[in-house]
Amino acid sequence: MRSALGVMLASAVSVFVIVAVWFWTYSPRAVLAAPDTVSARQAERLPAAASAKSTRALADEVEVTATIAARPSTVAPSTVASSTVKPSAALSSPALPAAPLQPKAACANADALGVSRVVEIDTTGGPGFGFEHFKQLDFLADKEVVLTFDDGPWPGNTPAVLKALADECTKAVFFPIGKHATYHPEILRQVAAAGHTVGAHTWSHANLNSKKMTEQQAKDEVEKGFSAVKLALGAAPSPFFRFPQLQHGPAAMAYLGSRNIATFSCDLDSFDFRAKDAAQIVNTVMTKLDKQGKGIILMHDFQKHTAEALPTLLGRLKAGGYKVVQMRAKAPLQTLVEYDDGLVKDMKLPTVSARALSNVVQTVAQ
Ligand SMILES: [Zn+2]
Repeated sequence: MRSALGVMLASAVSVFVIVAVWFWTYSPRAVLAAPDTVSARQAERLPAAASAKSTRALADEVEVTATIAARPSTVAPSTVASSTVKPSAALSSPALPAAPLQPKAACANADALGVSRVVEIDTTGGPGFGFEHFKQLDFLADKEVVLTFDDGPWPGNTPAVLKALADECTKAVFFPIGKHATYHPEILRQVAAAGHTVGAHTWSHANLNSKKMTEQQAKDEVEKGFSAVKLALGAAPSPFFRFPQLQHGPAAMAYLGSRNIATFSCDLDSFDFRAKDAAQIVNTVMTKLDKQGKGIILMHDFQKHTAEALPTLLGRLKAGGYKVVQMRAKAPLQTLVEYDDGLVKDMKLPTVSARALSNVVQTVAQ
């Protein structure tokens, strides 16, 4: 009897061991596979799983998140059924993630410039970057640079800039103009899809420090610019802003601070918009950089010469021992619902036609 009990016990232990080994061998795959489809940022926003850190992030965003969440009930059904269905549907999402971060793909270029460091920016209170105007936050080490591009997206030039960056497996910050984003949303989506950081640069590139500019007009330029970028991307932009012509005034700065939007000036202006050719841009940047040793570099993906200069410039940075730092936002910007809605309505004006070109324009004499 006792030996029979022993056999039974031994059998039970064996079954347990087999099940345990099976579980040990197979279950981790399922556990590991799951996070691939869920970005870290989305996970942070789930209140049910709130850790101390995520609670803080939610608290920071609570006011505007509520506005966004309330939006679907305010959207007229005709808006969603329009030709802008894709972006407006994206806008009605209750909790938009930032443009998705790309998984770290292997770089095909073994000798690439790459990204040496990624920094995450907490934009609470609207910090300022770029020593030309803001000297408090000196986060770059010697030989470190941040690549920034304004005024896009633009056909030809922006894709060429993206290619040059991709060839060197490196990343930049883009400050698109709102209007341009509505003209060429597919190009701006390429920028985000390549893993670059996307902020905004006003709606129409107005000088917000002009004497004729009222505070309300300046606010409209800022907010409509960000809403246009969100409409184009179908995802919230980073709360990173650059003033056109680097013209910032105290009222606009205070407003950005109240919206927790970081302001970007620069350390080093390439003056690419007035360069006569690509070589001049490379020389300007490298001369200044070798003197200053580091910095946020201001360029324009809108400019043809910049697109032409970039492969050489990135090569010179690498040869000079410079390292690229990518700046990312800790949390995406929550755009204001009235600007999102206003923009969608503007886009629906009769001038935006869904008719095919051949139905509208016909050659009748040649
Ligand atoms: Zn600009």
